[in-house]
Amino acid sequence: MSSDPNCVFCKIIGGKIPSRKVYEDDEILAFHDIHPWAPVHFLMVPKRHVDSLAQVDESDAPLLGRMLALAPRLALQEGCRPYPQGGHRVVVNTGAEGGQEVHHLHIHVMGGPRPWLKG
Ligand code: 5GP
Ligand code: ZN
Repeated sequence: MSSDPNCVFCKIIGGKIPSRKVYEDDEILAFHDIHPWAPVHFLMVPKRHVDSLAQVDESDAPLLGRMLALAPRLALQEGCRPYPQGGHRVVVNTGAEGGQEVHHLHIHVMGGPRPWLKG
């Protein structure tokens, strides 16, 4: 499935729900989290609908690698201080016990001065 009409992140990707965009290319969209935990908190999603990290396989490795490699660059762009004094946290909640609420694979990128609301 490339897009799920009931999925909130597919609606954001399709422009049906507005978001504050951080980055976009043909495969990836990044946008600010609507309820940030940290001074910088954005989400990176594949444009193709995938429920979670539990559904990916070897063929997704290049895309996941690109997303992970992009995270530090976007974190700096959004105001995180450089490593090692600054830095950022990358989180992928997976499944109910992993704390996943939106079932479209997403990478949380959080950073900025502490304390944070959570974490
Ligand atoms: P999860 O708990 O699934 O890992 O994280 C889902 C995240 O998506 C939450 O941090 C939540 O604030 C964010 N979120 C949920 N709905 C929307 C929305 O409509 N727009 C944006 N920008 N973020 C959302
Ligand atoms: Zn989706």
